Amino acid sequence: MLLKNNLKSEIIFLLSIRKDNSMQFTKYSPKTFSNSLYSMKGISKKTIEEHLKLYQGYVTKYNEIMERLVNLGDDEYSKANQTYSLVRELKVELTFAYGGVVNHEIYFGHLGGKGGEPTAGVLKQVKKDFGSFETYKKDMKATGIAARGWVWTAWNSREMRLFNYLGDAQNTFPVWYSTPIVALDTYEHAYFIDYGVNRGSYIDAFFENLDWNTVAKNFEVDTEYL
Ligand code: FE
Repeated sequence: MLLKNNLKSEIIFLLSIRKDNSMQFTKYSPKTFSNSLYSMKGISKKTIEEHLKLYQGYVTKYNEIMERLVNLGDDEYSKANQTYSLVRELKVELTFAYGGVVNHEIYFGHLGGKGGEPTAGVLKQVKKDFGSFETYKKDMKATGIAARGWVWTAWNSREMRLFNYLGDAQNTFPVWYSTPIVALDTYEHAYFIDYGVNRGSYIDAFFENLDWNTVAKNFEVDTEYL
């Protein structure tokens, strides 16, 4: 389903190239997520409410930046510069805004579940790549504590394996050919209301509320053509 949606977006994007050869984009709207987000164990309703405001802010900024990009005039294109230019600033900050949208959609999309163990297909791949589910969780937790913003379990279609990648911000450090199937937000806003500086307990709560069925769907899309 996710892949179909992605293809649909691609088609909309291609169709949205105007006949006059100038770029266009389709304005993005914030997604709504499961109501179960508001009744989780260990992650409060207040934290989720505040966190969703940040997500909606990223959507607004993504639209704003894209609007500026598709309306760039020849004068701004001619001023492109690697030290400072509008083209540079928009292209750099677009990656932060876009990361803020996509990361949070994965995060909120797979929370509100019952935790426990992964579904059979995901568990099989986890065991193959990490040895055991316990080792996977240990690595994920340590990577989350070592990160300043995110940790992602991603399917690397070049390496043909799952790996826990560390991110310090919405847009660092992507690795080509890798698609996140689990996204753990480790920015302070994700846990400070509930845990203060105790990030480890927040990561434990994250796993207790993870919906592995949604993770399995993310994984199935990535491996559909294996
Ligand atoms: Fe966040």
